[in-house]
Amino acid sequence: MIESKDAPISWLNISVFLITGLIALIWIPIHAFTHGFTLLEVIACVLCLGYCGMSITVGYHRLWSHKTYQANSFVRFILAIGGAFALQNSILHWCSDHRNHHRYVDNNDKDPYSAKRGFWFSHIGWMLRQYQGEEYGDYKNVKDLQKDKIVMWQHKYYVPLALLTNLGIPLLLGWLNGDILSMFLMSGVLRLVLSHHFTFFINSLAHIWGKSTFSSAHTAKDNHWLSLVTYGEGYHNFHHTFEYDYRNGIHWYDFDPSKWFIKTMSLIGFTWGLRKAPQERIEQAKAKFKLEQAKDKLLALPNAAAHIEKLEQEYEVLLKRINAFYSTQKRFIDLKKKKLVKDVEKTELYRQLQDMNQQLIELKQKLKAQQNNFARLSLQYS
Ligand SMILES: [Zn+2]
Ligand SMILES: [Zn+2]
Repeated sequence: MIESKDAPISWLNISVFLITGLIALIWIPIHAFTHGFTLLEVIACVLCLGYCGMSITVGYHRLWSHKTYQANSFVRFILAIGGAFALQNSILHWCSDHRNHHRYVDNNDKDPYSAKRGFWFSHIGWMLRQYQGEEYGDYKNVKDLQKDKIVMWQHKYYVPLALLTNLGIPLLLGWLNGDILSMFLMSGVLRLVLSHHFTFFINSLAHIWGKSTFSSAHTAKDNHWLSLVTYGEGYHNFHHTFEYDYRNGIHWYDFDPSKWFIKTMSLIGFTWGLRKAPQERIEQAKAKFKLEQAKDKLLALPNAAAHIEKLEQEYEVLLKRINAFYSTQKRFIDLKKKKLVKDVEKTELYRQLQDMNQQLIELKQKLKAQQNNFARLSLQYS
């Protein structure tokens, strides 16, 4: 990466951010006060905002950068158009940067938006100068995407597509609604500024604000609040630990509309091959992270060795319980499938299933008890 002072200034990016930002900050409030906006204009802004944002999270991020699922050409086309509307460069370019972000996360020389260079740099500063110089034409880490016709078509026609969507959609909506200027300010400019900064938060705030749950190998954090404006991308510690998982919020109560959209599309066959990290691996990562954290704190104590030994013993018990529960659960599911095929109730298989079900309930209780026990112990030390 080129040093800050030597990197050429990107006047186009600066102009876009500055002009749209100033209109959003000054002109739009004045227009709201003197002229007002209708409910329809606000709704159009919110819908366009959602379309842009989800095209980035569902498409650019989870589909193309990480290949967490596959989608038919109709879904890919809609997401490619939404990505141009979001004005965040082509799929090919965005994914190349993002794959480098994961591969070299927090490395100030190689991570294009390294959070270790501070909030401003990781939020927007990295786009104000051409820090990567010649490398920007090098797409060797996205060779697989170059086989996707829609990706290459969008890359080739990115500028006309970006102009057509960003000018065409708001102007058309304004013409239909009878007030071109108001609609353009709302669904054109305000939508673009909000859409930009909400996405930029994933590179800046999601690496600063929140808690680590699964790994301390990177600065990425889990943050419910951030998920509200990033369509579920706030669970960034999980994402950087299990990047191949189509979910970012893994609990049913996590706010992750991108996950819900991908799952819903799979029910009608528009998406398929949804990849998930095994629950066992997730539990192991959580336990390992807690152990590391508590150990770090314990090292400062005078009788650290004895405490660490106790903690490690409990950790080993926890790992055994995790393995016992999930391997039994897997056997149970396999056996159930077998039963479905043969459909033989009250047979040996049926009895085995009953026994195993009881065993699973007990194992789950034991696992929960050990998880609580370990959480209490590690909390006591941290
Ligand atoms: Zn990612
Ligand atoms: Zn990140």
